[in-house]
Amino acid sequence: MPQTPVSSDVSQSTDEPLSGFVVAIDGPSGSGKSSVSKQVARALGYAYLDTGAMYRALTWWCLDRGIDLDDPNAVTEAAEGFPLTIGTDPDHPHVAVAGTDVAAAIRETRISTQVSKVATVIPVRELMRRLQRDLVSEAGAARGGVVVEGRDITTVVTPDAPVRILLTASEEARLARRAKELHGDAEAASVDATRSQVVDRDRADSTVSQFTVAADGVTTLDTSDLDFEGSVRAVLQVVAAAQG
Ligand code: C5P
Repeated sequence: MPQTPVSSDVSQSTDEPLSGFVVAIDGPSGSGKSSVSKQVARALGYAYLDTGAMYRALTWWCLDRGIDLDDPNAVTEAAEGFPLTIGTDPDHPHVAVAGTDVAAAIRETRISTQVSKVATVIPVRELMRRLQRDLVSEAGAARGGVVVEGRDITTVVTPDAPVRILLTASEEARLARRAKELHGDAEAASVDATRSQVVDRDRADSTVSQFTVAADGVTTLDTSDLDFEGSVRAVLQVVAAAQG
C-alpha cells in the first residue's frame, strides 16, 4: 500500500497509514496527560488509548509470572506472548491480562516503581509500538478519531499524527498534582513521598524516550498555570486549529 509521508521522520516507514483523526499527546508524570486526554476524547467523541497502562499491565504480568525484571531477555519473552486486552472507550476503561481485570492493580505503587525496568527494554518498546499503532488505527477507524497518550507517541508510535502535543508542567506543579492524587494533599511530606514516583521514574524513562522537549512539529502546552478545564480547552484549541 502506498505510504503518505507527512514528515521526514516517517518517509522511510513501512507502517500502514493511520486510520481516523489521531491526536498524539506525550508528557512526563504529573503533567495531567491521562485525565486531560480522556476528557478531550470525550469532548470529541473519539476513542482513548492509555499506552502507559499497557506498560503497567506488562509489568504486572511479568511479576505475576515471577519473571526477573532485571533480565531483559525474560521480559522480552513475556512481552512476545502478552495476552493483553485494553478498551479504548474513554467512559469505560478496561485493562485485562489473560482474562484478569488489572485496572486497579496496575496503579499500585509496586507497579509504578518498577514499570520503567520493563519500559526501558528496547525490543519490548518495538513490540509495544506495533501493538499501539494497530490499536490506534482500529480505534480511529471505529470512532472517527482517537486520542493516544504516553511518552513516545508524538515521536515514535504515531509521528505521522495530524496533531502532536507535548503536555508539560513545572516539576513543582507536577509533584503537587501527584501528591494530591496519592496522598490527598500537597504538603511537604506528601510531596517528598511522591518525588521518587515522579522524578526518578521520569529520569529512567528519559533514557529511552524524549518527552521533556518537543520534537520538530510538536506543539508544547505548558499547563503549570492552567487548571484541568483550561488544559482541556488548550488541547481542543490545537485540535480545532489543525482541523481548520
Ligand atoms: O503514563 P503512565 O505514568 O501510566 O506510564 C507508566 C510508565 O509506562 C512510564 O513511566 C513509562 O515507563 C512507560 N511508558 C512508556 N512509553 C509510553 C507510555 C508509558 O515507556 N508511551
